[in-house]
Amino acid sequence: MRGCSPMTSVVLTVVGKVIEPNKGKTLELNRALEEYLKLVRWYVGFGITSKTKLHELTYEEAKKRFSLNTALIQTARDKAVEILKSFSERKAEGRAKADRPAVKRVSIRLDRRAFKLDKSSTKLTPYWLVVSLRRGVRIALPLAFGSRQKQFIEETLQGLWELDSVELVKRDGVWFAHFKIKKNVVTYGAEEAKTLIGVDLGEWNAVAAAAISRDSPSRPMRGQFWGGQRIRFVRGKYAHIRRSLQRKKRLDLVKRIGSKEGRTVNQMLHEIAKGVVEYAKQFPKPVIVMEDLEGIRDRMSGDNKLLNRRLHSWSFRKLQKYIEYKALLSGIPIVYVKPKNTSRTCHRCGFTVDEVKGREFRCPRCGLRYNRDLNAAINIALALTRGRGWGAVTPPRTPT
Ligand SMILES: [Zn+2]
Repeated sequence: MRGCSPMTSVVLTVVGKVIEPNKGKTLELNRALEEYLKLVRWYVGFGITSKTKLHELTYEEAKKRFSLNTALIQTARDKAVEILKSFSERKAEGRAKADRPAVKRVSIRLDRRAFKLDKSSTKLTPYWLVVSLRRGVRIALPLAFGSRQKQFIEETLQGLWELDSVELVKRDGVWFAHFKIKKNVVTYGAEEAKTLIGVDLGEWNAVAAAAISRDSPSRPMRGQFWGGQRIRFVRGKYAHIRRSLQRKKRLDLVKRIGSKEGRTVNQMLHEIAKGVVEYAKQFPKPVIVMEDLEGIRDRMSGDNKLLNRRLHSWSFRKLQKYIEYKALLSGIPIVYVKPKNTSRTCHRCGFTVDEVKGREFRCPRCGLRYNRDLNAAINIALALTRGRGWGAVTPPRTPT
C-alpha cells in the first residue's frame, strides 16, 4: 500500500549586494527608506493588529500622505502589524516595558507587484533588480551574488523556484537585496520511512549520524562522523587573531575578521549538511531525525558549562536548517524529537549512566562499548520509534 505524498515547501533567502549604485539611485533608495520608516511608524501608531481593519481605516489617507508605491504601502502596513504582534508577545512575557514599540530601523519589503528580477548581458553584472519604490519612479539596481547564491538565483530565473518577495536592507551604508524564494517538494510521511537516521550535533564531532532500520532497530548500521576539528581550528585561529587585534585597538579589523570567519564556518556547515544528506540517501526510504534545539541546550548546560559557552547555538540551528532544506530538496523528510539523556543512555539496554567520560560510552549493565556520539545518534533515531508509537525497541538480553 502506498501512503500519501505530502507536499512541503522549502523557503530560502538569497542575498545579493547592490553594486555601484549611482548618486541618483542611492538618493532614491535613501528617500524611499526614510519615507517607508515614517509610514511603518505611522501605522504602528494606530496600535491595530488586524490587517483588514487597519487597511480600511487608513489606506486612502496613507496614499495621500505618502508618495510610496501602493504595493509598498501595503507591505509597510503588514510590517507594522508584525511589529505590534511581536511586541505584545514580548509584553505578555514581561520582556517589554514601553507602551508602544519603538521602530528604529526597517528594511523595505517589496511583494511581487513591486519588483522584477532581470537578466541581461551588461558589463557590470547580468543581474538587475527593477523596483518601483515611489509612485512613478522606477530604478534598476545592479546586483552581485556569491557562488552559492548565484546558483539559486539562476534556478529562480529558470522558473525552478517561485520568487516570493524581496527586502531591501541597508547595512553600514551598503544596500542588499534579500530574496525570498519558495519551492514545493514532494516527500513522504515520517511514518512511512524505512530507515531512521539519527543525527547528533556535538562539539568533538560536529555531526555523528547513525542509521537504524525500522524493521530491526536493535541493529544499528554503520555510522558516519563529520569532524568538528576543522571548525575548532578555524574558530581557534580567528579567536587568536581577534585577541591580538583587540590589543592593538584595531576594532575595524576585528569586525572584518568576524565576517570572514562567519563565511568560512558557513561553508563548512554547508559541506557537513551535504554529507549528512548523502549519507541518508544510501539507505532505503530514510527520514532524518534531529534533536530539538532546546534539548541540546539543556544537555549542554547540564554536561559542561564551558562547552556551552564555546558552542554557539546559532551554528547548531544553522546547521540543522541547512540539513533540513538539503534533505527536503532530495525528498527526504525531517523530524525533530525531544529525547532525554541521549548521550548518557545506552542504546542497547536503555540504562542511563551518570556521566560519560572520554569518547567512549561504556554501559555497566549490558557491557556495551560504543562511540559516545554514535550512541547518542542512535538514541535520537530510537526516540522516533518510541514517540511515534512504533513499538518499544526490545533490548537484547543482558549478558550474565
Ligand atoms: Zn547497556
